[in-house]
Formats: sequence, C-alpha cells, structure tokens
Amino acid sequence: MALKIVQAGEKVLRQRAAALSVEQIRSRETKQLIEEMRQTMYEAPGVGLAAPQVGVPLQLAVIEDKAEYQKDVPAEVIQARERKPVAFHVIVNPVISLEAGEEAEFFEGCLSVAGATAVVARARRVRVDCLDHKGRAQTIRAAGWYARILQHEIDHLQGVLYLDRMMTRTFMTVENFGRYWKFAGRAEWGELLEGSSTDQKADKMQL
Ligand code: ZN
Repeated sequence: MALKIVQAGEKVLRQRAAALSVEQIRSRETKQLIEEMRQTMYEAPGVGLAAPQVGVPLQLAVIEDKAEYQKDVPAEVIQARERKPVAFHVIVNPVISLEAGEEAEFFEGCLSVAGATAVVARARRVRVDCLDHKGRAQTIRAAGWYARILQHEIDHLQGVLYLDRMMTRTFMTVENFGRYWKFAGRAEWGELLEGSSTDQKADKMQL
C-alpha cells in the first residue's frame, strides 16, 4: 500500500527526526513502514524517500535508483551527473560527512515540493555512517548523483528541504524545466543567476 506523501508546510518536514533503537529497527512496525515507503517511492516515482515525507518523524530513508529510470536519459546527462544504478537499501540514523573541495550544481526536485525544481550545489563525494534495515552498522562512500540523493534524504531527517540550499533564481516549475532547461548546460542556466550578483552588490553597499 502506498502512503500519502506530505507537502511543504507540514510541520513534520521541518522537525528533526528521532533516532531509532536497534530493537525498533527490527520491529514488525518498522519492517512494514519500510515496505510501504518502498512502494510509495516506486509509485511516485522517486529515487529516495525519507520517513518524515510520509508523516513519520524517524531517522529512516529508503533509496533506489533503478537502471530503468535512467534508460531514457541522454548519455551525456547521465555522465555529467555521474548517475549509476543504486540498489534498494535503507539508511537509519545516518551521520554524513561531506568531502570538501568539489561541488556539483544540478537541478533537483523533491516529492514534498511537488511540481518545482531548482539548482542546488552539493558535495560531489560523501561518507555516510548509518545502520541498515537490520540495525547493522555500515559506512557508505558515494560520489556523483548517489551522493546527491544521500545529502537530500539526510537533510529531510534534519528538517531541511532543498529550498533552503537552492540557488533561488533557478527555482521554476517542472513544466518550464521540461520546456526550456532540461538539456541546458551550466552556461545556459547560469544566465538565470546573472541578476543576483548585482543584487548582492547593492546589498553590500547598503551595509
Ligand atoms: Zn525530498
């Protein structure tokens, strides 16, 4: 059964989610929650879903980037985003470390901010220490699109939405993204940012 995905404005999306005990992770309730979140993610469809997005304030997220989601995406887009299939897995109580230095800027969206997208700069590489669906400790080292998914989902567990991190002038409807920007590179959508530098200068002059 698919669950209802809550939208921005629901308090649960702005709360810090609670950690789970190993006992809680292994409980029948959590097993069922994971199964329902998995179905909800498939039906959306999405490549990740955090428990607060289905109204549950717990530090748990499901992730899967299926090969079939990528087959209609142009090869150069896949390559630029460093997107590779990621098998289904669960992360619980994650602690993320961002590798400094390299950042990647791409449009991203969120099932809890339906119909919108914007460019977000994210670390290209991350390390995540977490528990799996059985409560076993694990370390994930990820790069590229998978690293972005992890950063996005773990933000949800801290009450953070991509809206807090986006380049605000790139915010747009998914419809217009498909119409004008889907295959645009950094040079093209970078034009969207141009007005912002003058605005910032103006702000500084007032200080
Ligand atoms: Zn999201």
